[in-house]
Amino acid sequence: MSEILEGPHAIAFGVKRLGEGNLVAFPTETVYGLGADAFNAQAVQRVFTLKGRPNTNPLIVHVSGIVMAKTVVAHWPDAADLIARTYWPGPVTMVLPKADVVPGIVCANGSTVAVRCPEHPCALALIESFGKPIVGPSANPSGHISPTTPEHVMDGFPDANLMIVDGGRCRTGIESTVVDLTSKTIRILRPGFIGPHAISKTISQNIESIAPLPHDPIARSPGLIGAHYQPRTPTKLVPTAALKSATDSDTIITWSIQSHPAKGTLIPIPRQIDAYASNIYRALHDADRGNPSAIWIEEPPTGSGTDELAIRTAIMERLGRATHK
Ligand code: AMP
Ligand code: MG
Repeated sequence: MSEILEGPHAIAFGVKRLGEGNLVAFPTETVYGLGADAFNAQAVQRVFTLKGRPNTNPLIVHVSGIVMAKTVVAHWPDAADLIARTYWPGPVTMVLPKADVVPGIVCANGSTVAVRCPEHPCALALIESFGKPIVGPSANPSGHISPTTPEHVMDGFPDANLMIVDGGRCRTGIESTVVDLTSKTIRILRPGFIGPHAISKTISQNIESIAPLPHDPIARSPGLIGAHYQPRTPTKLVPTAALKSATDSDTIITWSIQSHPAKGTLIPIPRQIDAYASNIYRALHDADRGNPSAIWIEEPPTGSGTDELAIRTAIMERLGRATHK
């Protein structure tokens, strides 16, 4: 049986488990991560095995700050320093040239490593007390909905003998922005809460957003395959006007409840874009648990300004994959 623990005792026990090469699920501000000692190849292999994650999809290495980040990279460019000083701890992951100490399995045997400092007191306490970086892909079976509560992790891995650190609900609610700093042209590989405009301004450099659409046959980042974040129930993403076609056996995730007839089971979601992001995975987990014949997701409102646009882009990218056939 997996178990959920909270408080200082949970951190101490988590550190012990990590030291023994075991896995510890831990909260971050984005989603819950499935943690293992990043320098222990066997422990990292356990992460891939438990998730059913292909070895071709590299992991993010979580660090407690810039000093630790420098231990896993071969080179720390000025742009990385600017980004880290501006957004860490926070939801921005940087891809950089890898240091030799990082086992190949972490990086899908490539020459680069993804690194991030998460903004959650439990995550930071765990990494700091452990004293070493921790790999942390989302703590869910590969391809399924990411977890934003300890109970979601438990639902995904009830029998894994997994220790889950309870840090409450994840505030950001969608995965970090992944930015690649390893070539001359800096690129966003995965859109997130922090958008290309903001990062471009931070480093006074143009950057490219090449996160492929779900239907793009070329997955430019190894992890960016079409179907991901998927409920078990068939799910569709629809504009507000289409909701009227839902039937009684459907579940609808909606922010405009008042403006359409209440057919099916309604799961409300805030219309404000950041709150939509922080609630969307929880809503999908709730919808899936009810076993409806279909889940309908109302597209998030358009919003305004570059920050809202960035968050909406990140949400739409996730929902495109959640509904990808
Ligand atoms: P996850 O931790 O499951 O949310 O996914 C991590 C994301 O970071 C995936 O999209 C990976 O493909 C991406 N990633 C991790 N390491 C690298 C790397 N070295 N190069 C490019 N993308 C990476
Ligand atoms: Mg994931």
